[in-house]
Amino acid sequence: MCYLLLLAPDFIPELLMPPLKTSAFSLSVAVMLVSSLVPSQRCAATEPGPWRVEPKLAAVQQLFPQGSVRLLDGPFLVMQEVDHAYLLRLEPDRLLAQFRVEAGLPPKAKPYGGWESPAKPGTVRSLAGHSLGHYLSALSLMARMTDDAVLLERIGYITKELKQCQDKRGDGSVVAFPFSRELEADIRKGKVETVDNYWAPFYTIHKQLAGLRDAWVYCGDATAKDVLIRLADWCGSIVKDLSDEQRERMLRCEHGGMAEVLADVYAITAEPRFLDFARLYSHHAVLDSAADGKDNLTGLHANTQVPKFIGFQRIHQLAGDPRPGAAAAFFWHTVVANRSWVNGGNSMHEHFGEPKAMAGDITHDGGPETCNTYNMLRLTTALYQEKPDSAYLDYYENALFNHILASQAPLPGAGAFVYYTPLRPNYARSYGSDFNSFWCCTGTGMENHAKYAEFIYTHDAASLTVNLFMASQVQWTERGLTLRQETRFPDEAATALVITAAPVEPLAIRIRHPFWLVGQHLGVTVNGQVVATTSQAGGFAELKRTWKVGDRIQIALPMQLRVQRQVQCPGWVSLFNGPILLAGELGSEGLTQKDFIGPYTPIKALLPLNRAPLLIANTDADVLAHVVPVDGQPGNFRTKELAKPNDVTLAPFYRTHFQRYAIYWQLSDAAHAAEQQLQVAEAERVERELEARTSDEVRLGEQQPETDHLLHCENSRTGFGPLGKHFRAADPDGWFSLDLELPPAGSKVAIRLVYWGRDNGPEFDLLADGNVIATPKLETAGLEDYYAAEYPVAATLLAGKHKLSVRIQAKPGKPTASVYNLRLVSVQ
Ligand SMILES: [Zn+2]
Repeated sequence: MCYLLLLAPDFIPELLMPPLKTSAFSLSVAVMLVSSLVPSQRCAATEPGPWRVEPKLAAVQQLFPQGSVRLLDGPFLVMQEVDHAYLLRLEPDRLLAQFRVEAGLPPKAKPYGGWESPAKPGTVRSLAGHSLGHYLSALSLMARMTDDAVLLERIGYITKELKQCQDKRGDGSVVAFPFSRELEADIRKGKVETVDNYWAPFYTIHKQLAGLRDAWVYCGDATAKDVLIRLADWCGSIVKDLSDEQRERMLRCEHGGMAEVLADVYAITAEPRFLDFARLYSHHAVLDSAADGKDNLTGLHANTQVPKFIGFQRIHQLAGDPRPGAAAAFFWHTVVANRSWVNGGNSMHEHFGEPKAMAGDITHDGGPETCNTYNMLRLTTALYQEKPDSAYLDYYENALFNHILASQAPLPGAGAFVYYTPLRPNYARSYGSDFNSFWCCTGTGMENHAKYAEFIYTHDAASLTVNLFMASQVQWTERGLTLRQETRFPDEAATALVITAAPVEPLAIRIRHPFWLVGQHLGVTVNGQVVATTSQAGGFAELKRTWKVGDRIQIALPMQLRVQRQVQCPGWVSLFNGPILLAGELGSEGLTQKDFIGPYTPIKALLPLNRAPLLIANTDADVLAHVVPVDGQPGNFRTKELAKPNDVTLAPFYRTHFQRYAIYWQLSDAAHAAEQQLQVAEAERVERELEARTSDEVRLGEQQPETDHLLHCENSRTGFGPLGKHFRAADPDGWFSLDLELPPAGSKVAIRLVYWGRDNGPEFDLLADGNVIATPKLETAGLEDYYAAEYPVAATLLAGKHKLSVRIQAKPGKPTASVYNLRLVSVQ
């Protein structure tokens, strides 16, 4: 079924209304909408290739060049075209505006909003520029996938504009965030902690470098290469004289894939200094523990870590250094085995929690961040190339179908990417707005849907491997092979490989035997004749022969329903059809368009957990016995006397948009279901009462919430306490402050702080807009739990205000308590 037809017209941006009025807005129209904008012109190939360094460790499995593999009709092509339309809608001059300002040139257009907004006057916090980097990467990927000349022109325009800005600045730098020269001066002096005040400056610069690299590597834009090299030199020059300790301190701040892209510049230029720079941007605090096989990830910001390991793997591959490679492989395995959700995503509220506490996180309003999975897929690809283990493919398939494909709303041109994918039953995703979000996940979102073809096939000298079942065509020019994969998978439990150009020499075609066909043979025929295969799940079936044009390999993929349990989430189950995560479709009660588009999560739309359906079953077999296919709707199922209070329709999660859903379920038996629901209801009631009187909340110690609330601090630190919960504290003479929204005028207000029950500590001051309102002193409450204390704020301090600055200040020579959560609440 085409889910585009299921959307209420309210959700369709204005530009898309004309096609909708035709009542034929279907997959084919969505594709036509974009295709009509696409002149046929191939992206200029670069001869000789863009890389000048042969890796020390040659890849065992090679990727085909971007553009050699094209998608055919199917859900992935739909999402590629949806994204393509958005890339065309964006205006380069708006993304370039702040680059020109920071170069002393007049902007040609107004900057975009959201995270592309210029810094507020008097502040240095801004991520302006990160989206231009992602945009350049996405344009380069999409140009190779579609031959769209408009995209190529834009790449050329943007790189020339960036060169003009870089020339004007004169020192190789080119940035869009303010006060970069002050930042540079501080770093060169060794005052590296300044980077924290800027939000994440090297995160932003990394996106620019990566965009320039991609414009060169995929599209041969020589200007991009020049700007890239000069900017990379500037990045290296400002850290090369720092001490190891200073660099380590600086690299605690999120810096994207600086190590990776600098290693790439080495591979592009063959200049060894760039490999040195890549090593200088390698954060040893995480590299060393992972290389030693230690998982010290709890409490860390997840997406700050993943790109570091992509960089370590790249250095390992290029230079042969063993430890970075060991670190990357260990990191991947521990994240996938111990820290990932059922859809392949990881993190809650952007952080790695305690693995044993993951089950408790399912009901939170956050969820895995799309960027993390974007980066995990890049890491997976790199690791698989070195060691082609099918475990990498199993993860890749899961994360691609069940997270990435689900992370863009099917609205061509809308830029409606998902930041967090909630796991909480009866909840929903929200999507970014077209021009006023520009989150990190908007940036990686632009790229995600332009690179689906990248990993469907890989090859070595003697064989082609089919890694993924996806309608597509691959052209292997060197071997004279063109192969079409014809399938409606996963709506069809089979795929076919058709040879449309045949090599003269014999060639092996290897077909992945996926884990979800465990215990089953891979049923293969060639031109209708059964071929005996000996592969097992987790291996590959290999067919070697001299192929002829028209040869057809048919592969049966009999997907089975299955119940998946995760050891770190006891009490919860998920339902899969083969590799496809199924979601219970739960309607849209209490949700409006406003909830779906714009904010990170539609917090006001939470429904009590006791209203989420339970599965009444004692065993997994019981569950499966009560799920049946829906006639005429491939991929859809219906529970039958299984879910309470009502049976539900199950659909592939990737096409469950603009509604509430369940992907994690609790099991109960008939005798205990009511009691279980009452317990959940009571816990929910307490939580909801607190939510109802909260006007604003900061999860202290977590990067994003603190940034959103304009954290200022001196001599302050963060960490995590029992159960993996983050805190912030100030050391002697230190302080920290945050700005929070007040409840409506006329409310009585209190500041609510959360402490750990066994903490003791000296007095400290709690200030509201500069006035001391309390001097708390912690004496152990004897609890093995967290507890809250509320401190009333006098009405005279609130008159006429919408926000309140809350400051926690240490007494001379004494530290403050560790504070885990901060809220403004209304009180009776
Ligand atoms: Zn993100």
